[in-house]
Amino acid sequence: MSVLTRDIIVQFPDLTVRRSDRLLIAGPCSVESRDQLFRVAESVRESGFRFLRGGAFKPRTNPYSFQGLQEEGLKLLQAAAKEFDLKIVTEIVDASHLPMFMDTVDILQIGARNMANFHLLKQLAHASKPILLKRGFAATIEELLLAAEYLVSGGNQQVILCERGIRTFETATRATLDLSSVPIVKKISALPIIVDPSHATGRSDIVVPMALAGLVAGADGLMVEVHPNPPKALCDGLQSLTLEGFRELVAEINRLKPYLIKK
Ligand code: PEP
Ligand code: MN
Repeated sequence: MSVLTRDIIVQFPDLTVRRSDRLLIAGPCSVESRDQLFRVAESVRESGFRFLRGGAFKPRTNPYSFQGLQEEGLKLLQAAAKEFDLKIVTEIVDASHLPMFMDTVDILQIGARNMANFHLLKQLAHASKPILLKRGFAATIEELLLAAEYLVSGGNQQVILCERGIRTFETATRATLDLSSVPIVKKISALPIIVDPSHATGRSDIVVPMALAGLVAGADGLMVEVHPNPPKALCDGLQSLTLEGFRELVAEINRLKPYLIKK
């Protein structure tokens, strides 16, 4: 792999996130309304997290499911980020959307379903934005790293990997969080890797322990889904933390911090 180990996970003119800080991202699966997004964004800001996630263009398995607010969703993300001084992480599914995303978004997310969309990766390699690359649910660690290599070799060195669980025979969880990918990636790659316990588990009742386990395994950060009213969520309600649940997660992370491996 072709990049040197770096201390900085991601850098903006007004914000530098080092490995020792951890990259902490939270927000709803999908942007649904101004009220929904602003309530979560306020809570994200209060928690000390600096990155707001929210899908605007959603790659849904079922074509009849909510597909996202699209351009309107990006505008709401922009407004919430401005109001609460947060950076935006959102998924890009089509390279033709790049000009629109370049104006709005701070970190481009490539979802599990597109990890192996090599044409998209090649096009995004030219974007001068950090990229959060999620592991495909049927991808090996090596395939994840090779997908990242499309971005890095194409000119984008600002890649952050995300372990979001893989499909196994287990049915108690939506996917199986492959925590061993975290220390393995650290042995063979210089890229930072964060953990997404929300998509990995599919169930909010075990998101907190799996998030903490990710940090203990050495993850450079976390991405979690949060919704003010999960039963009414248009996407991924079962795995979304309530605002109260999110506050509990933040308290647990802060309790754990002194014991984490120093980076
Ligand atoms: C998401 O982050 O909302 C998402 C769709 O995740 P994944 O691509 O990991 O399924
Ligand atoms: Mn989701």
